[in-house]
Amino acid sequence: MLKFFSNKLFRYLSLFLFFNTSISPVRSSSALAAWELNSNGILELRTKTNTKLEAYFQKSSKKYGDRFWIDFPGELINPRIIKGNGPIKEIRLGKPIEGKTRLVVEFTEKNNIKPLTWRLVGLDQNRWRIKLFSPSKSFKRIAEGVVNKKNIKSKTNQKANYVRKEFDYIQLPEIKQNKFFVVIDPGHGGPDPGAIGIGGIRETDVVLDVSKIVKKLLSEKGVKVKLTRKNEIDLDLPPRVSFANRTNADIFVSIHANASRGKRRDINGLETFYYRGWRGRLLAKRIQKQILKVSPGSPDRGVKQGRFYVIKNTKMPAVLVEIGFLTGRLDARRLEKSVHRKRIAFAIAKGILEYLSRAG
Ligand SMILES: [Zn+2]
Repeated sequence: MLKFFSNKLFRYLSLFLFFNTSISPVRSSSALAAWELNSNGILELRTKTNTKLEAYFQKSSKKYGDRFWIDFPGELINPRIIKGNGPIKEIRLGKPIEGKTRLVVEFTEKNNIKPLTWRLVGLDQNRWRIKLFSPSKSFKRIAEGVVNKKNIKSKTNQKANYVRKEFDYIQLPEIKQNKFFVVIDPGHGGPDPGAIGIGGIRETDVVLDVSKIVKKLLSEKGVKVKLTRKNEIDLDLPPRVSFANRTNADIFVSIHANASRGKRRDINGLETFYYRGWRGRLLAKRIQKQILKVSPGSPDRGVKQGRFYVIKNTKMPAVLVEIGFLTGRLDARRLEKSVHRKRIAFAIAKGILEYLSRAG
């Protein structure tokens, strides 16, 4: 994973979390039934009912242009390439691994895409939509199959429930705009990589990535956020604390990943520490609850009192969250994936917003 992190071209931006999961046999047929990239730049999909989708974006590399892709369960029968026009170079349908279908949209060099604004939206039990670009010149529709075929089995009320359930998970709570100031502290940095886990995965890289996403998510909700470090610099503990104290932050959240003694692969789990006060404890509880939700199977090591320097010496409610064991088989395999780091970041942001809306 070291390679993964050091190569900037391989910065995956996962667009999405997971949807309602249904377990399908590995060798089932592709869950992708039809797709259509419209002249307005909107990609529409029809899938099997309750399909789990994962969408990704990758910036251009030497070999490929900017790419957006979605993985569907079920294996594609005939891989194919469809020529694009306008900002679309081509669309590929493939099977990256056995039992999967991948729809890749590759962009030309000159494109006006803004991946950070992309949202894949579930319209129905079997329909999806994402706006990929706004055509500057006319764009000729590319499609296979009929995306608008209604799912006959779905009744109106079921549909409503389904959509609400999804969005409950995806949406972050609303809070008062421009009221709060949060300091996020990505642990370690520079010459201090923190924990080194399976395959060389480094704590400093993982927690910096997660912290940046937390910052983005909170900023979108009208929270002012500062990171104690934005890159790989050597930053001692006292300046992290004095920064938060000097700037009168409302809360301080230090993000770390664990390593077990003897690098035991069977030790996994999440824990959140606070030093004092009911506010610190409440913040820790909110965050712990959310990170557990996105880490099924990983043990709950609980909310604990800890005497870590950064939470002991900060004046405001402060927590230190350990988002998993980089030495643990289960946690490491997840934390090396950008989609999971995004889920964790989302969970931390959700815990913070819940705390601020109640106690902030
Ligand atoms: Zn650490």
